[in-house]
Amino acid sequence: MIQPETLSFDCIVDGEAVTGARLDVVNPATGLVFASCSVADGALVDRAVAGAARAQRDWAASGLDERRALFVRIADAIQADAASFARLLVLEQGKVAREAADEVAYTVDVFRLYADMELSVLERLFEERHPNHIRIRRPLGVVAGIVPWNYPLMIVAMKIAPALLTGNAIVIKPSPTTPLATLHLGRLCAGIIPPGLVQFLADDGPVGAMLTRHPDIRKIAFTGSTVTGKRVMEAAGGTLKRITLELGGNDPAIILADADIATTAAGVHAGIFTNAGQICGAVKRVYVHDSIYDDFCRELGRLTAANVVGDGLDPATTIGPVQNRMQFEKAMRLYEAATADGKVVASAAVPRGSGFFVPPTLFDGLADDHALVGEEQFAPIVPLMRYSDVDDAVRRANDSPYGLTASVWSADHDGAVAVACRLEASAICINTHNTPPEDVGLSLAKQSGTGWLLGEEGMLEYLETFTVFP
Ligand code: NDP
Repeated sequence: MIQPETLSFDCIVDGEAVTGARLDVVNPATGLVFASCSVADGALVDRAVAGAARAQRDWAASGLDERRALFVRIADAIQADAASFARLLVLEQGKVAREAADEVAYTVDVFRLYADMELSVLERLFEERHPNHIRIRRPLGVVAGIVPWNYPLMIVAMKIAPALLTGNAIVIKPSPTTPLATLHLGRLCAGIIPPGLVQFLADDGPVGAMLTRHPDIRKIAFTGSTVTGKRVMEAAGGTLKRITLELGGNDPAIILADADIATTAAGVHAGIFTNAGQICGAVKRVYVHDSIYDDFCRELGRLTAANVVGDGLDPATTIGPVQNRMQFEKAMRLYEAATADGKVVASAAVPRGSGFFVPPTLFDGLADDHALVGEEQFAPIVPLMRYSDVDDAVRRANDSPYGLTASVWSADHDGAVAVACRLEASAICINTHNTPPEDVGLSLAKQSGTGWLLGEEGMLEYLETFTVFP
């Protein structure tokens, strides 16, 4: 288990810790610095990319069995040190201890899933119409994985695993507010992964942009906000890098008239408040049929008010702080605007002090063009919207530049599926939210991204295809 006196971390390049200028890391539950890490500069970025390119040449020649075996070793190592990872996630990200343990478990699952994944996309293909044509797929080379602060460990795993399984090397850049679990993974992997194959570069701002312009990086696998995603796309165009962008969402849940109130309220509550609302595919707008609106809001309000907001290390806490000061200030601006323009249906109290605690709150009576309805809040504050005609609910749900996830809740499964098929989102769930199976490919829709995530389609994003015409 990691101890407080060891809360000093370094970038890991070619399997070795690299010291340098230091970045303070703040605990969002206290607003105070509790750890630090070294940050990369331009020279270290170049060194990391060159080292990754060297390592990739050998790795590209490795067989699938070798790659799979590596994932099993990584998964075993994370599992053996799960308590350290979970503690770091609570301290740097702010999530509650149970959710931190879940994130570590998902991370282990990601590596095991990829260790078992069928990979026919790597096989030689023969064109049906021209059976003598040979189609070969090869890794791109060096990939950069740029990740946000909401699931810092799991999203890193979701970048490393597909990149390595397809024969690439990867340079990982965490968010400056959550670098620690990532660097701890780097330290752990130093004894397992061939040096250079995965480089871990923390930074305080400039490295993401450097990676998107670096001539020797062939692909950017980016997860973050839509605003930054557009910058990445623009910068990557300079060297025509491949890009996968997994961006923001403003995810609607539509509650049909026949939905069971108790189970739906419990499911929607989890969809809204898990990780303090900081999930790309969290429920961010709730459309409820007029006939059950009052009863549903009462039940969802009862669950919301029962939350205990506090430090994730306290076992009584059910919702932690939001992750950083900038996000706190943005969420509080939306909270103040919604309090002024709408009505609070239910809220839970927050502790006093300097932590980044946003009161978990449901709002009623906000117009469709209100900021809390139209923008991605990424915080535990959500508007409840009334509708009487399902066509109107579908139209309002789709009236967004985003298209990440959505859900439909009903006792009539087929009826719910019919509504779901009219929604514009990458992943649409019935009677649950945000739990698509991890081995199914998702195409990122509208301004929530570009490219494919997960599944064999997701693997193709890391490969280049060559055709031989004998
Ligand atoms: P940001 O877009 O602010 O940052 C994401 C990463 O990009 C960080 O590492 C950041 O580091 C880096 N970055 C910032 N500017 C650039 C640049 N010009 N070029 C390259 N990299 C850059 O997102 P947040 O960290 O605030 O994360 C929250 C957002 O992520 C939400 O919108 C959420 O919906 C989305 N998200 C999407 C998911 C999905 O699968 N669709 C999953 C999880 C989150 P730095 O700031 O130092 O530069």
